[in-house]
Amino acid sequence: MKTIVAISTPYGSGGVGIVRLSGGEALAIAGALFFVKGKRVKPEAVKHAQMLFGETRTNELADLGYMVYFKAPRSFTGEDVVEFHAHGGPRILTSIVKRCIELGAAAAAPGEFTKRAFISGKLSLAAAEGIVDMINAESAAAVRAAYSMAGGELIKRVKSLQNALADTITNLEAVLDFPEETADYEIPAAEGAISKIKYGIDRLIASAGTGRIAKEGITAAVTGRPNVGKSSLFNKILLKERAIVSEIPGTTRDLLSESFEYKGVKINLTDGAGIRETEDKIEKIGVLYAKNALLSADFVIYVEDDAALLCGAESVISDTKKLFKVLNKCDLSGENYGFNDGVFRVSARTGGGITELLDALTADFLKGETAAGKEVVSSLRHLTALKAASEALGDAMTGYRDNTADCVLIDLRSAYFSLGEITGETASEKIIEDIFSKFCIGK
Ligand code: GDP
Repeated sequence: MKTIVAISTPYGSGGVGIVRLSGGEALAIAGALFFVKGKRVKPEAVKHAQMLFGETRTNELADLGYMVYFKAPRSFTGEDVVEFHAHGGPRILTSIVKRCIELGAAAAAPGEFTKRAFISGKLSLAAAEGIVDMINAESAAAVRAAYSMAGGELIKRVKSLQNALADTITNLEAVLDFPEETADYEIPAAEGAISKIKYGIDRLIASAGTGRIAKEGITAAVTGRPNVGKSSLFNKILLKERAIVSEIPGTTRDLLSESFEYKGVKINLTDGAGIRETEDKIEKIGVLYAKNALLSADFVIYVEDDAALLCGAESVISDTKKLFKVLNKCDLSGENYGFNDGVFRVSARTGGGITELLDALTADFLKGETAAGKEVVSSLRHLTALKAASEALGDAMTGYRDNTADCVLIDLRSAYFSLGEITGETASEKIIEDIFSKFCIGK
């Protein structure tokens, strides 16, 4: 494979910028453009992981900085890698890349370094996906979920399930190939093993709710009658004047959406038109948007300024599990802030009671995250593969009951294949291309 080169730090000005080379020619190319104390660096004298201070010279400029060499296979890609740590000016870095290309390197495609790491067996496909997710993560919880994926925790679990499955397949193949030589008890024994593997897969599937929220955040929709203080609460939670607040009912018409991080968790908050019957054409559309937001939200924050009317909150949504009843303007009524009797008492004016509301919004997720440990499924692709594997194992168990051992084997192999899609072992070229195309250049 050709030696590739790219800028690995974000485009723009910064203290340090890194140009990365990977491939068999990396060190030879470095030898042609890096100078220590005025002398070309000798490739054979450069040691693994050694930082050298010197001058990177291109045909048009020179820069003072460092180069570091990682000898194959002890590098990220598994190939020989050289990094130039230069001053982080875009013109300096593009000049170094250009010089490397003149010396024989090819410009790297998006994600090509990570793809090479996958091809050389340094990373599983899930670990590579974890790296992209870590880079794109917007909250600490998202980084944690992606880090466990990149660090191989999920893969360890999937591989151990795959190994157990492979053993079961081998045992069953033996029964089918030499039926007269094996005892009858082997078939029921495998049924127990299949059920155990299925249980392991189903546990991973169960962690996907936590994983989705870790990655995408909790969605909470603020709703209620006009003028109860929805927009004021929205602004107070966001700590900025995002929505227009006025005593005129029906001021908010469009659906406003903002994200913020609370206790390391991303919260996506929406504020829409107050729910009421209206003849106003535009407000009507706004009410429709607001109702749709309620349907897709993880939580609905139903705001009232009259305690007696809060009992009508249930009529707004069908799933009361996700309903948070909030009594606003408690600064006027003098009621104590906080949660009591199924109601959060707050004041969007003073900010009283809002911390309790946010704590309650994130509590379930944080509990779920602790319970799931390091094996959180946060990728839809992995979830789809796990569900397919679980379904195939369910079919295999039905096959047992119906005594159709050939079908059982087909189902077990299908489950094995689905798990292999997560590790990358059985993933198609198309899936692999899709995954790496989401990477940035230089990663
Ligand atoms: P929305 O129509 O439900 O979005 O309500 P707004 O946020 O526009 O507020 C309606 C009116 O109630 C405005 O005059 C706000 O200043 C007032 N208001 C909102 N929240 C509070 C609160 O917690 N305390 C008091 N005293 N007034 C509030």
